Amino acid sequence: MELLNEDLVMVLGSMCAGKSFELASYFAPLKLVNGVGWGLYQSARNTRDMNVWSRNGVELEAKKIESLEEVLKDGVAIAGIDEFHMFPESDIVYLKKILALKRQVIVSGLLTDYQGKMIGVVRAAMELGPSRVIMKRAVCSKCGSWSATYTQIEKDGVPILSGLPSVVPEDGRYRFLPVCPSCFIKK
Ligand SMILES: [Zn+2]
Repeated sequence: MELLNEDLVMVLGSMCAGKSFELASYFAPLKLVNGVGWGLYQSARNTRDMNVWSRNGVELEAKKIESLEEVLKDGVAIAGIDEFHMFPESDIVYLKKILALKRQVIVSGLLTDYQGKMIGVVRAAMELGPSRVIMKRAVCSKCGSWSATYTQIEKDGVPILSGLPSVVPEDGRYRFLPVCPSCFIKK
């Protein structure tokens, strides 16, 4: 299996970049294998999706969790964590414990927040030195180039540059747009 020599794999990028689909591609084959303990997880803060990958035609169920401590307690050999950026930075202690037990973890999530800064828990995981980082890009919603790495948050067509938490739920109050570095508007 491709994952055998990996410990921590991170799939990062803007929204709409196929991060969750990349994550799903690791787990879809595992559905067919008996005896491999694996689990898929998603932050309970994600109110948008019932399943992780329902939008892509690949449907794998994910367990909604409040903390990465639940992944540690489940004791699965391979854990997939979607929307990783939604977990608090303090949860990194559980990720370290999971990896210390020689379990494999694949996470996917946003690289940066709406201000273009790396999100705390993502940076803390990067500092652990993942065995592989996969950067995904989306098509820029402004210029159409396939180089969107940022996620711009707009309200009524105007970018919001400050005053929001670093993780903003997609609950319909704001528009989330993938944009390239040239089109991204920073404070
Ligand atoms: Zn652009």
